[in-house]
Amino acid sequence: MTISQPVILWFRNDLRLTDHAALLAATETGQPVLPVFILDDTSPGRWAMGGAARWWLHHSLAALQAALADRGCTLILRRGDSATVLAELVRSTRATDIFTGGSADPWARRLDQTVAEATDARFHRMRTRTLFHPDSIRTKTGGSYSVYTPFANACLALGGPKPPSPAPMEIRAADVAATERLDDWGLLPGKPDWAGGLRDTWTPGEAGAMERADAFLTHGLTGYAAGRDQPAGDGTSMLSPHLRFGEISAAQLWHLAHQRPNGKGREIFIRELLWREFCAHLLWHNPGLPEAPLKPEFAKMPWRDDKPALTAWQRGQTGVPIVDAGMRQLWRTGWMHNRVRMIVASFLIKHLMIPWQDGEAWFWDTLVDADLASNAGNWQWVAGCGADAAPYFRIFNPVLQGGKFDADGDYVRHFVPELAKLDAKYIHAPWVAPAHALTSAGVSLGKTYPHPIVDLAQGRARALEAYAKIRSVT
Ligand SMILES: Cc1cc2nc3c(=O)[nH]c(=O)nc-3n(C[C@H](O)[C@H](O)[C@H](O)COP(=O)(O)OP(=O)(O)OC[C@H]3O[C@@H](n4cnc5c(N)ncnc54)[C@H](O)[C@@H]3O)c2cc1C
Repeated sequence: MTISQPVILWFRNDLRLTDHAALLAATETGQPVLPVFILDDTSPGRWAMGGAARWWLHHSLAALQAALADRGCTLILRRGDSATVLAELVRSTRATDIFTGGSADPWARRLDQTVAEATDARFHRMRTRTLFHPDSIRTKTGGSYSVYTPFANACLALGGPKPPSPAPMEIRAADVAATERLDDWGLLPGKPDWAGGLRDTWTPGEAGAMERADAFLTHGLTGYAAGRDQPAGDGTSMLSPHLRFGEISAAQLWHLAHQRPNGKGREIFIRELLWREFCAHLLWHNPGLPEAPLKPEFAKMPWRDDKPALTAWQRGQTGVPIVDAGMRQLWRTGWMHNRVRMIVASFLIKHLMIPWQDGEAWFWDTLVDADLASNAGNWQWVAGCGADAAPYFRIFNPVLQGGKFDADGDYVRHFVPELAKLDAKYIHAPWVAPAHALTSAGVSLGKTYPHPIVDLAQGRARALEAYAKIRSVT
């Protein structure tokens, strides 16, 4: 080895320079650093990145390129199978080491193994995504956790992650290897351009993440406990896509939040970060989480194959206002408020009896924060078939949920403008409104806005009956 031989820094879902253990370790070797990002649609199989996440990735990579360029480094972009690309890069640059961040995604873990075996370089996987290593949180008997509260308490007992490391002031740049052009990757939509709402809502990249974190911690944290369940307000941080792409680390957020006054808001925010951590822990210990129910009896559920209902749900045309508002928010902005995610998921799984995996797949394609662990963990949680899941018989009534969390109907009015003029007392159930209330609001059910695609009481009864059946055969 000579001091001029480079080390490779393989960026993955950790597109930042601050608090990046792998980047730090790479710079500390004193050797030149070759930063690389690989667009690999082969290794993830069916979990290749969805459309909304690709939009985000494009902009996040552009921001990372600029941040590295400020330090005199070029981000090498390559497409293809990661193991093949890295083996070729190691050969052509004579790199001695590969530094990278780990992930709970089963395909990424398999890939680490393959890369480590396929190249002559030393392979170093560091923790860049989670607060703790998923293996380091253990029950008293050495097992993994399947219930959130004791898991969260075990994390809290550790006293928090170590303080974040600053971005390296200088990175010794390696000679540039051949790179592809980001614009040639086709990550942005062509025609039709569906990304207008995404552009209006988000600023991908490390600087955008820090700006949002700062705004939330300054203005939102104290009111978070009360405001986080109101989808019409901006009561939550909206940091999930930034966390998804690792533009800010969970440890940075943990420590930034602890610099703010103690209170209920901060406590709950930290517990939400631990939900993310819990999902990663679940996936790490249950690699089948995205595909199969953790409670095996749910595989026998008599799901319905109802394409028109699935399409109506995807398009926000179910005739149930809070569900439609949520699905349209998702389509327009690539994000949906957590309370509404629970409502739309419950509606799909229980009222429509469509498999949770169909909802998971749609979210995968349309969410900018689509994350294998959090998406699968939460879908299983709502379905009642996951770890520590909401009991199956707890079926959200979308009308009552709407009345409780969107009492004035502002959220529905914003995303379902055809109901905007309807009185708040009918906005979550226009089908009970008297004819004159509909007429004066310009609503004609079946014409300007659909009738509900399912009778809520009948849907609920059907779901409970199916559940009773699978329970009785196990
Ligand atoms: C059916 C369903 C699917 C979901 N799919 C995803 C997904 O693919 N990616 C994703 O990041 N989140 C997912 N969530 C969790 C949650 O809805 C989002 O993390 C949250 O809405 C993000 O908004 P926020 O950043 O404003 O959250 P905040 O309320 O500000 O919370 C701060 C952070 O805590 C984490 N967090 C909060 N709630 C959860 C939760 N229930 N599970 C895991 N982490 C959480 C997120 O990283 C979030 O950014 C899903 C929830 C449901 C019900």
